[in-house]
Amino acid sequence: MSLPFLRSAVVQLAAYQPHVESEADPSSALVAPVRLDPLDTNECPYDLPEAYKEKLAWLLHHDIAANRYPDGGHGPLKAAIAQYVNEAIPADSPIGPDYISVGNGSDELIRSVLIATCVGGEGAVLVAAPTFSMYSILARTLGIPVVSVGRSEKTFEVDLAAAEAAIAQPQGLPVRVVFMVHPNSPTGNALTAAELAWLEQLPPEVLVVVDEAYFEFSQQTTLAAVLDRPNWVVMRTFSKAFRLAAYRVGYTVAQPALTQALEKVRLPYNLPSLTQAAAQLALTHRQELLAVVPEIQQQRRELADAIAQHTPLHLWPSDANFLYGRPPVPPGQSTEAELERWFYRLRAQGTLVRHTGGGLRITIGTPAENQRTLAHMQGI
Ligand SMILES: *Cc1c(COP(=O)(O)O)cnc(C)c1O
Repeated sequence: MSLPFLRSAVVQLAAYQPHVESEADPSSALVAPVRLDPLDTNECPYDLPEAYKEKLAWLLHHDIAANRYPDGGHGPLKAAIAQYVNEAIPADSPIGPDYISVGNGSDELIRSVLIATCVGGEGAVLVAAPTFSMYSILARTLGIPVVSVGRSEKTFEVDLAAAEAAIAQPQGLPVRVVFMVHPNSPTGNALTAAELAWLEQLPPEVLVVVDEAYFEFSQQTTLAAVLDRPNWVVMRTFSKAFRLAAYRVGYTVAQPALTQALEKVRLPYNLPSLTQAAAQLALTHRQELLAVVPEIQQQRRELADAIAQHTPLHLWPSDANFLYGRPPVPPGQSTEAELERWFYRLRAQGTLVRHTGGGLRITIGTPAENQRTLAHMQGI
């Protein structure tokens, strides 16, 4: 149906597809199994412990008035986040709550960054593909041009010469924001010293956003850069290591002037009361919740070794809670067709992975799930 009042950018946009489960399976002989291991969205494989769910249920019943708006200032949550991020910085608690903005998932914060910088024909964003797709999806919904540069096929390092040229000689609007994931999704590589040095020398009119969604797994952070650079934002989420994907909480760390700009453009009551309570509870009990991170890192090493030993999939090193690989392509076959074959064969056996960026991204699950991942790969 034609809806002539819609913006053409919205009509042309393909919506983000969290799971491709519902798509028709091209090999109809393969019947989907009853249970699928959900290894396609990089969540922690462990749910919040029962005692904390009970605590949240208690808060919902006795503490949170349903008729009242949530705290739109997020004061206690920002203070708890500031305390947590300071643990990764070797100075004395330099980051206060005025450095923190919280969003309904990092996705909302990405949109706030775009609204605060590029909307209205003021600028373009730069990404290095393959990377997290939400930057360009959200940019396009807002009519913001996306400049995409490539990465090395061998190491997935950013093509810095192309990125430099895109900033120095813009083809259209000037680049106002560079989005980098550290470590990158789907490829798993952390920013190198050369990439960090390039980001650090960018001029003050370019905002650097470093998305550290996988920080707890990589233990690598650029937080120190926030302290001396007004054009630097670190973005994090509670959706991965903190086990709260269902609750939708992300945060940014940036100098107070930039944080105030992000706060101005967000919705006033963006985080439900229960979500704020869940994030605070997770931070209070972070030692216990994050205690599974070393197990997941160990599982990542073991699964990577086993896949390398027992399957033809070519894997890259990963600093996150997922692996990225590409199968060998038989002569006469296309890469995409071979990737589709692997994706559907894995799914038919019960392992759901993500086919993205010209490869397969496989979340590290529980030890039992990882064993099944290996067995299902061997079954191809
Ligand atoms: C998972 C992920 C996020 C998290 O997004 P939320 O909206 O907070 O759930 C952000 N950035 C990247 C690169 C991710 O992989």
